Amino acid sequence: MTLKAFPKRLRSRVLVNELLGRRTTLRVGGPAQYFVEALTLRDVADTVLASRESGLPLHVLGGGSNLLIADDGVSGIVLSLHGMRKIHVFGTKVQVQAGANLSALVSNCSARGLAGPQSLAGIPGSVGGALAMNAGGRHGEIADYVERVIWINPHGELESRYREEIDFGYRISELRLGVVIEAVLQGQAGEPRSLIAQSREILQQKLAAQPYSEFSAGCAFKNPKGQSAGRIIDAAGCKGLRVGGAIVSDRHGNFIINTGEAKAGDVLELMRLVTARVLEAQGIELQPEVQIWPSRSLQAA
Ligand SMILES: Cc1cc2nc3c(=O)[nH]c(=O)nc-3n(C[C@H](O)[C@H](O)[C@H](O)COP(=O)(O)OP(=O)(O)OC[C@H]3O[C@@H](n4cnc5c(N)ncnc54)[C@H](O)[C@@H]3O)c2cc1C
Repeated sequence: MTLKAFPKRLRSRVLVNELLGRRTTLRVGGPAQYFVEALTLRDVADTVLASRESGLPLHVLGGGSNLLIADDGVSGIVLSLHGMRKIHVFGTKVQVQAGANLSALVSNCSARGLAGPQSLAGIPGSVGGALAMNAGGRHGEIADYVERVIWINPHGELESRYREEIDFGYRISELRLGVVIEAVLQGQAGEPRSLIAQSREILQQKLAAQPYSEFSAGCAFKNPKGQSAGRIIDAAGCKGLRVGGAIVSDRHGNFIINTGEAKAGDVLELMRLVTARVLEAQGIELQPEVQIWPSRSLQAA
């Protein structure tokens, strides 16, 4: 397969064998066979079409803050919407493109007196990624504010869906099966100064509890219903466990840290080790929260 899979107008902007590790917060992972940064809806549509016509698999990259990409990279096309990041607050709603930083969304909403998305303060990554993962925490999740989403659905059709038509789950949504282009979120009227203070407070709580400044992909595992994966991992004696350059954080058991020289294989092996130890010690089967590219099971040794 060659660059001919892409329409002529896009070809000069397609990067071949682009390293992905530096585009993730975990800083591991090999190259994308083809990498495209979309600046317009037409770029996105053309890339989706190129993938469908050529049979090259399509992966959408947001801020790379919930991703573990294999050392040998991913075949097919990796599409980034980082160039599409407009945010427009109007009254108690905000229209936001998928490539916008979640933190920029929160600060824009606060400054314009739109209350609600402050609950997402401190979560890294893009709005598209947050919608795909239904990002959130104890203060709320992004689905709470969705009015509608415009995306290219898994059939390759541009579609607008209202909140009630979208399947959102715990740290997952069906939107990750397509390409989120933009969303309209609904909040309430608030007072900018107290909203700014509220989001700072939530950020401070995260900074105090998590190894925020280290290379990680956030929580490696989902919380089993009613329980904390971090506490379970801690109780299984996994804190400080190490494989190569990857280590289970001693500040938060659910964070796997790249100490600087980790390979994706180290992180994957450490996740397998933690899964096996927790299963043995407590009979609990942890499920990964981090998205693994290309997808693979943690059970297979
Ligand atoms: C220090 C740290 C703290 C974190 N804290 C939290 C937290 O409190 N709560 C929480 O929920 N998460 C947290 N995370 C995880 C992560 O920030 C979120 O899951 C975030 O929403 C992922 O967004 P992203 O843009 O980085 O997505 P990526 O990591 O780039 O991608 C994640 C998934 O979303 C898909 N995706 C991305 N963009 C799109 C799009 N436009 N259309 C369709 N699919 C798309 C990708 O294909 C992939 O499947 C944390 C991460 C770190 C590093």
